[in-house]
Amino acid sequence: MKVEYNFQQLQDCQCSTCKVHNGSTCVSQRTGGLKFTTCASQPPPEQVEGIYCAQMKGQSSCNDMQVNKACMCPTCGVWRSHELDTNYFCVHGSAE
Ligand code: SF4
Ligand code: SF4
Repeated sequence: MKVEYNFQQLQDCQCSTCKVHNGSTCVSQRTGGLKFTTCASQPPPEQVEGIYCAQMKGQSSCNDMQVNKACMCPTCGVWRSHELDTNYFCVHGSAE
């Protein structure tokens, strides 16, 4: 199921609890230590590091994601409500 990019689902996204996300120096630099973004509210997808499963976002342009660490997507409400069955969207791109 396709995932819409919206602020509520960004809030529900669990990428900020993920060692793949938090272990990336590139992501940390882009988010300035915040969960997903340096912006305060309703950020456009290009300014966000999270909700990679959404079509409007897709994979991160950071190339230091360590996929030997566990993806947290299966713990996420967005993942369950959209009946997703794949993960590591930050590397492989958005959900189909
Ligand atoms: S399924 Fe994964 S990428 Fe999508 S919102 Fe949840 S944690 Fe983020
Ligand atoms: S898509 Fe999965 S592996 Fe990538 S940052 Fe989000 S929870 Fe972690």
